[in-house]
Amino acid sequence: MKKLSLTLLITFSCISAFAQDYSDKITLVIHGGAGTITRANMSPEREKAYREGLDLALQKGYEVLKKGGTSVQAVEAAIHVMEDSPLFNAGKGAVFTNEGKNEMDAAIMEGKTLKAGAVAGVTTIKNPISAAIAVMDQSVHVMMAGKGAEQFAKEKGLQIVDPSYFYTEARYKALERAKAQEKTELDHNAKEENGGKGGTEEGGKGKSPSSPSSPSSLIFTEGKKFGTVGCVALDKYGNLAAGTSTGGMTNKRYGRIGDAPIIGAGTYANNATCAVSATGHGEYFIRSVVAHDISALMEYKGLSLADAANEVVMKKLVERGGEGGVIAVDRNGNVAMPFNSEGMYRGYIKSDGKREILIYKD
Ligand code: ASP
Repeated sequence: MKKLSLTLLITFSCISAFAQDYSDKITLVIHGGAGTITRANMSPEREKAYREGLDLALQKGYEVLKKGGTSVQAVEAAIHVMEDSPLFNAGKGAVFTNEGKNEMDAAIMEGKTLKAGAVAGVTTIKNPISAAIAVMDQSVHVMMAGKGAEQFAKEKGLQIVDPSYFYTEARYKALERAKAQEKTELDHNAKEENGGKGGTEEGGKGKSPSSPSSPSSLIFTEGKKFGTVGCVALDKYGNLAAGTSTGGMTNKRYGRIGDAPIIGAGTYANNATCAVSATGHGEYFIRSVVAHDISALMEYKGLSLADAANEVVMKKLVERGGEGGVIAVDRNGNVAMPFNSEGMYRGYIKSDGKREILIYKD
């Protein structure tokens, strides 16, 4: 008996000794959407509101990592902050479909196990990212859609809300403008279905439907913006995770689903390479299998995270006309945040205390 205990003790000590500690590498990266976000169409109050929202998301996610939580838990915590804010096109701030509904998509992937979960076209789940995690952890499936996903979330005890919870005046006005123009637009109002630059600006600075001090006036609805939110993280156990959550596309029809819940397109994580979350024109990201392509370039061609992410976002996507960007992290805590649009809400925090929140190109 004594011999057995000793053997077990030695085995355990050996395993512990070999299990690398990544505490000095923990990293969290977030995005709150890309698009024509320029200084010209951003008031100081609005910029402050967005920066505060991003800052809180970084803080909440990082706290989880610091306390020894997993990368999946950190991703969930950071995304909850953005889903609960009306500023971002996810959860509370989700955009409207052509029928005047809010239909949300979300996905999560764990780099260690390559397990993944996603929900699509859900209308009553307060935090779709949590539903995606429940699909990953508590079902044998990877993706659930519509009513079935909502039923599953309810059975798993997730918070269900009346669809009216997702109403925000600014987003509804954006839908009305889009419908008036008989246009399909991505996220908020876009002028360019055919690739033109800039927005119609009809909802431009100073023309907000609400009074300047109301929260609704802080919601960015000018020009083209992809408002999806996402988070990628590396935890102290060396495990990567990626999560993305979105309301999709203003005025979307026919049950349109974007890239966010498609594993490999808008969301992907693999401990052997990286974790990626995307924002942009979903159809292009699906066709280019963006998130997995970045991982594949690292795995098959030995590219660095930065080179792989740049190759896909700044070359391949640009050549194909796909606008947007990604956030990505690898197992060494390297961060990449390339985007080919005019701006992307983004930020990261690292264990060495380095922390940045950025919006514009420069
Ligand atoms: N990628 C999202 C979609 O196509 C849009 C976004 O990033 O805001 O649904």
